[in-house]
Amino acid sequence: MRVSMIGTGYVGIVSGTCLAEKGIYITCVDKDKEKVKKINNCISPIFENGLNDLLKKNIINKHLFADTNLKKAVIESEISIIAVGTPFDGEKIDLSQIRKSAEEIGTALKEKNAYHVIVVKSTVTPGTTDEVVLPILEKYSGKKAGIDFGVGMNPEFLREGCAVNDFMSPDRIIIGGIDNKTINKILELYKVFSGTDILTTNNKTAEMIKYTTNSLLATLISFSNEIANICTKTQNVDIKEVMSGVHLDKRLNPILPSNNRVNPDFLKYLEAGCGFGGSCFPKDIKALISYSEEQGENPKLLKSVIEINQKQPYKLIQLLNKHYKSFKNLHVAILGLAFKPDTDDIRESPAIPVAKLLLKEGAYIKAYDPAAKEEAKKILGNDNIEYSESLEDTLLGVDAVILVTRWDKFKNLNRLISNEKCQPLIIDGRRMLNKNDYKKYEGIGLSHGK
Ligand code: NAD
Repeated sequence: MRVSMIGTGYVGIVSGTCLAEKGIYITCVDKDKEKVKKINNCISPIFENGLNDLLKKNIINKHLFADTNLKKAVIESEISIIAVGTPFDGEKIDLSQIRKSAEEIGTALKEKNAYHVIVVKSTVTPGTTDEVVLPILEKYSGKKAGIDFGVGMNPEFLREGCAVNDFMSPDRIIIGGIDNKTINKILELYKVFSGTDILTTNNKTAEMIKYTTNSLLATLISFSNEIANICTKTQNVDIKEVMSGVHLDKRLNPILPSNNRVNPDFLKYLEAGCGFGGSCFPKDIKALISYSEEQGENPKLLKSVIEINQKQPYKLIQLLNKHYKSFKNLHVAILGLAFKPDTDDIRESPAIPVAKLLLKEGAYIKAYDPAAKEEAKKILGNDNIEYSESLEDTLLGVDAVILVTRWDKFKNLNRLISNEKCQPLIIDGRRMLNKNDYKKYEGIGLSHGK
């Protein structure tokens, strides 16, 4: 089977490469010539564990190639997967990339006689596939959905940082479609993932499953952060201990017959921190809020999830403020710029508002991130901010260290600063350090009494 993957961002390039690895012939299409050139030169346009090797292998064995020619890619394939961006425009989901790609696919279908299936993989609000994409396809192709082509929805659940593994070993495959013919065609594509739970449904439900999943996880994070902020104001209470106790609830963390705990991955969302970021949670929750309001609903809980999250990075500033009334000429190290470890994605990273505010208040910043330096430079510039090459360099001569991203290599910070005579203040935005290892330590959710 040959598939055209429209859009080679995080989702498109990972999905395309992994499907190629599973034996599908993939044409990755992007309007960005540079990305296409890079891919064909075996260089991944994004940083993602294991992706480069897999990409190279599949380019060499001719299972994957990239092209800017969407029409040719659609005509030569049986399925087209739309994986273009769906940003939030400040008020609602911005469907311009979806609309444009549907127009182009429709135009290509005009010249194709065989049945074709178009699958929306981008995260879109309920109704987008049936009420926006399908009519555009019909208009530009002059053909009829359900007869000449099928339209499906297959949301993506990969997580940046472990995207290859998530795609290769999915926990579920959700397939929506306008009819059985469409669904069966998409099932044929995914038959290489035998053993995975597959749920087939209509397009709107598939769209809603994606939003519900992201909203639930974001809610858990904001819930944990709200509790952390209450702990901060409560003498002798540390959120870390509180959450450790909560995690022992057998309904959340079942006990196996061996007496060991399951320790499910979702417990990571029940930990305090300086907020969630990335290209999905913030925009998806905001898009669902706006969609709900259009339907006449007032989604109070989801609004609070966003409100708590927007304020959370500034808790780090408040902790710094306890020790320094003014930030003028203060030397601050920021550890981590990416919104999470193992990615170079800085979209909506809590590091950005923190750095911007410190710069505005006259501080000097030394920033360090193992992967996201170049991306951060594009947003934060070079004035009064130095991007260090190593963790060791970053820590030299600073008054305070703010840990923003949970990169593994920050775990043993104490080894790098314990010998320094004048230890900097440590502000732990992820509560990943042992507070007793540092002379001056502050952390999210750690009461002022401690
Ligand atoms: P992205 O912005 O990184 O990439 C989108 C790509 O599409 C860009 O390379 C752009 O040049 C290309 N593009 C746009 N219009 C095009 C067109 N008409 N023809 C060809 N190429 C075109 O986006 P992303 O992060 O990969 O996300 C894509 C979708 O997947 C979004 O809806 C997102 O919400 C969803 N999603 C993302 C993640 C994630 O972790 N990033 C996870 C699950 C779902």
